[in-house]
Amino acid sequence: MPPPSASRPGLYVHVPFCAQVCPYCDFSVLRGGEPARRRYVEHLLAEVPLAAADWSDPTPFDTVYFGGGTPSILPAAELVRVLETCRRHLPLVDEPWTCLEANPEDVTPESCAEWRGLGVRMLSLGVQSFDDAALRFLERAHDSGRARAAVETALAAGFATVSVDLIYGLPDQDEAAWRRQLEALVALAPDHVSCYQLTIHPRTRFGVAAARGKLRELPDERQAALFELTHRFLADAGWPAYEVSNFARGPEHRSRHNRKYWDHTPYLGLGPSAHSLAVATPTSARRFWNELRTPHWERRLAAGERPLEGEERLGPRELATEALMLGLRTAEGVDLDAFTQRYGFDLEASNAPLLVELQASGQLVLRDRRLVPALSGLAVADGLAAAFTLPG
Ligand code: SF4
Repeated sequence: MPPPSASRPGLYVHVPFCAQVCPYCDFSVLRGGEPARRRYVEHLLAEVPLAAADWSDPTPFDTVYFGGGTPSILPAAELVRVLETCRRHLPLVDEPWTCLEANPEDVTPESCAEWRGLGVRMLSLGVQSFDDAALRFLERAHDSGRARAAVETALAAGFATVSVDLIYGLPDQDEAAWRRQLEALVALAPDHVSCYQLTIHPRTRFGVAAARGKLRELPDERQAALFELTHRFLADAGWPAYEVSNFARGPEHRSRHNRKYWDHTPYLGLGPSAHSLAVATPTSARRFWNELRTPHWERRLAAGERPLEGEERLGPRELATEALMLGLRTAEGVDLDAFTQRYGFDLEASNAPLLVELQASGQLVLRDRRLVPALSGLAVADGLAAAFTLPG
């Protein structure tokens, strides 16, 4: 866990538009048309100097992440304008590690060439499934043929890292069906994979269907079996997990941006709902976030205001609690000595009986002075972290 000054900050740009709104999505997304998207970009450009005026860290940003929503919905020329404006107002290294989330239907040799020209190193594809019935259930715009073609096109375009997102734990999905998805995935050989369990959120169309008894989440024990299958299958195939939902063919393909969220490296978020973390000292930080809804965010910017919705101050205890929770979700685990040095809490001394118990149950391993979650621990990482106490 490096001290904050050892890592450069990351820049996140949120694009809230999607061609259609998926029935399981609980993000604040809009379909928007061409005029709405153009208006959004103008507001985003207006946000950059306001955010920069409040960002006192002179360390250059070394990652840029275009997330959403569906950033690939914007023309590359608009993304270039955003990047150029960021570069004018914020310190940015010459060639930041840049990631773009894209939906398969936006991936063509031409769009890939434009994105590479933009400096995109990681292209993250929202494939979700290689099975047509599953894609219909998830109401995605692409079919399995389009999904495969998008991965192949992206790989041929020469991005440093091509990532594929998949969703598992669909109602009635069994291990054999999910294994076929994983086999289809490894046959295409992307560099990075993110696998997420389907969660049914109340204020979504799936949530409404579930409340009416028309849809049921997969029972916990079957979810757990799919989780274990995912990790074992991908590790055996050459994509070991480096975080609870993320797998990479080698360390060079891990998301350099996302790890900043896991170790309290500062980050600045632009766009509706984007979060930021400014780190003053190793044990004091401020987290702040933008208006969630795009119309509110736009209204504040049109009035010349910074579109912040809220903020919180984080002291040593809050930061330590988060670091433990996030660290136990990663394959690297938690470095005990670095933890004590940064946050001032000796985890080992205050949790000695718990550590014995978790090691005996096989959920946790103590290796090279690090608390490393085993697969069964990773499956319940949040609960594992909650079992620890911080002294004082
Ligand atoms: S593409 Fe992603 S962000 Fe957009 S609606 Fe679907 S799940 Fe939500």
